[in-house]
Amino acid sequence: MHELTLKNIKLPSPPAIALRILEAVKKGDASFEELARIIQVDPALTAKILQVANSSFYSMPNMVNTIEKALSVLGMNVTKNIALSFVIAKDMNGADTAGFNFTYFWKRAVTTAVGAELLSFLLHYKNDDLFVSALLQDIGVLVMYLSQPEVYSQVLDEKRVTEASILGSEQKIFGFDHQEVGAELLARWGLPKNLSTMIRYHHRSECPEELRMPVDLLHWSTMLSSIYYGSRSVEKVQKLKAEICSSFKIHVEDIDALVDSVAKKSVEILSFFEIDPGEMKPFSLMLQEANEELRRINLSYEQVVMQAKQARQKAEELASELLEANSKLRVLAFRDGLTDLYNYRYFQELMEREVNRATRYHLPLSLMLFDIDRFKEVNDTCGHPAGDEVLRCLAKLVTTTMRTSDIIARYGGEEFAVILPMTDMGGCRVFAERLRRLVEDMEMVIGGIVIRITISLGVTTCESGMVSMTKSQMIHAADAAMYLAKKNGRNRVEVKEAQP
Ligand code: GH3
Ligand code: MG
Ligand code: MG
Repeated sequence: MHELTLKNIKLPSPPAIALRILEAVKKGDASFEELARIIQVDPALTAKILQVANSSFYSMPNMVNTIEKALSVLGMNVTKNIALSFVIAKDMNGADTAGFNFTYFWKRAVTTAVGAELLSFLLHYKNDDLFVSALLQDIGVLVMYLSQPEVYSQVLDEKRVTEASILGSEQKIFGFDHQEVGAELLARWGLPKNLSTMIRYHHRSECPEELRMPVDLLHWSTMLSSIYYGSRSVEKVQKLKAEICSSFKIHVEDIDALVDSVAKKSVEILSFFEIDPGEMKPFSLMLQEANEELRRINLSYEQVVMQAKQARQKAEELASELLEANSKLRVLAFRDGLTDLYNYRYFQELMEREVNRATRYHLPLSLMLFDIDRFKEVNDTCGHPAGDEVLRCLAKLVTTTMRTSDIIARYGGEEFAVILPMTDMGGCRVFAERLRRLVEDMEMVIGGIVIRITISLGVTTCESGMVSMTKSQMIHAADAAMYLAKKNGRNRVEVKEAQP
C-alpha cells in the first residue's frame, strides 16, 4: 500500500499499553512474566482479562485469578489478543454524534467477534487471531470517519439512502476503502501480519486463496451479528445455513443454536467492554415472540370478526323483535284489550277521518252511541269477571251484526260507539233498533248463570250535503240522544239532530 493512497487519512498512534504488549510479544522470547507485568500496570485491564478467562466463553474448569494463570491456560497469543481488544476498543472510542454512533460501532464489533469465535469452535477451526480480527475488521471505517467526518458522512449517507455497497462508495469518494485503511493501521501498529491481511480482504473480493477460510469466517461473523443489528434476519440465517451446513457437514439446528448463543455470549462479553447490551434476546426467542404476537393478532382479528358477526346477528334479532313489538304496540295503541275493539283514542281519529270524507264527498254519515243499562247491577250480582265477559259478548254481537264498512269502538267502560259511513238517519235508526232488540233477546250463560242485558242508544246523522258539521258536534248530539234514551226509560233508541 502506498502512502499516497491514504492521503487525508491520519492514522492514529497505538495506545501506549498496546504498543508495549505488541513489542513484548514481537521479541518472540517474551516470558509470561514480562507480559503479565505489562498488563498488570493497568488494573482495570487485568480485571477484564480475568473476567474473560473465567467467562462461559472459555469454560475453564478452575478459577483463573491471576494474569500468569490466564497466560498459562489461555496461551500467550489469546491473552495478548484479549488485551489488545480491550485496549484498542477503549482508545478508539468517542462521544456519539449525529454523524457517528461509537457505541453502536463497538457493540456490533464485539458481537461480530463473539460470532467469529463461536463459529470457529463449531467448525473446529482454530485461529487465535480470529476474535481480535473480527473485532477490528471495520476499524478502517472508524479511522476514515475520524479523519474526514464530513466526507465520510457522504459514504454513510449513500449507503443508507441508496443501499450502495460501502466499499463502492468509499472507492468513489476516497479512492480507497476501509479494508485498506484498517489493514494499514494494524500493520503500522505492529499487529501480526496475518491479522492485518485478514482485515485487508474481509469483504472477500480478491481474497488470496490461503486466506479463504479465515476471511470466510470474518464474513460469516458479520452475518451473524447483522442478524441482531440489521434487517431481513431470517433471510440471513437461511443464507448462513446454505453457505455453511453442507460444506462443513453441520446440522441446520447447530446454526440455530449458534445464532442464539451469539446473543447470549455477546451480552456477557459486552459487559466486559462496559457496553450496555440493551435488550439482546436470542434470535429463536425473538422469532417465538414474533410468532406469538402474530398468532395473537390473528386470533384477535378472528375474535373481532366473530364479535362483529354476533353483533350484526344480535342487531337483526333486535330489529325483528322491535318490529314485532312495534306492531304489538300499534295494536295496543289502537285497540281495547278487553274487547279487541278500537279504543277511544283511535275512535276519535277514525271519526275525524270519516267526518272529513263525508263532508268532502257529500255523503251521509251516522254515529251511534250506546250504553249498557244498569250494568252496575250485573257486576254486583254476577261479579266483575262476568261483567267483562258480558262486554266481550256484546262486542261480538255488534261486530257480527253491523256492515263491514261500519266502525265500532269501545267508547268508555260499558259504552260503545259505532260509526256508520254512507248511512242516513233512516238507515241508522233501523240498525239501532235491530241492535237494541238483538241485545234484548241475547241470553248469555256465564259461569252457569243466565245473564240478559239491555242497551240505550242515541243516534245522530250528518246528512249528505250538510256542511260545516264537525266531529265534536256529532259526538255531542249522539251523546245527548243516548242520555235522552236513558232518561226516557232505557232499552230504547233516541235520535238527535246535530246542531251546528
Ligand atoms: P245506566 O243504566 O245508568 O248506565 O247504569 P249503569 O249501572 O250501567 O251505569 P254506571 O255508569 O252507574 O255504572 C257503569 C258500570 O259499568 C260501573 C262499572 O263497574 C262497570 N264497568 C265499566 N267498565 C267495566 C269493565 O270493563 N268491566 C266490568 N265488568 N264492568 C265495567
Ligand atoms: Mg250503563
Ligand atoms: Mg255508563
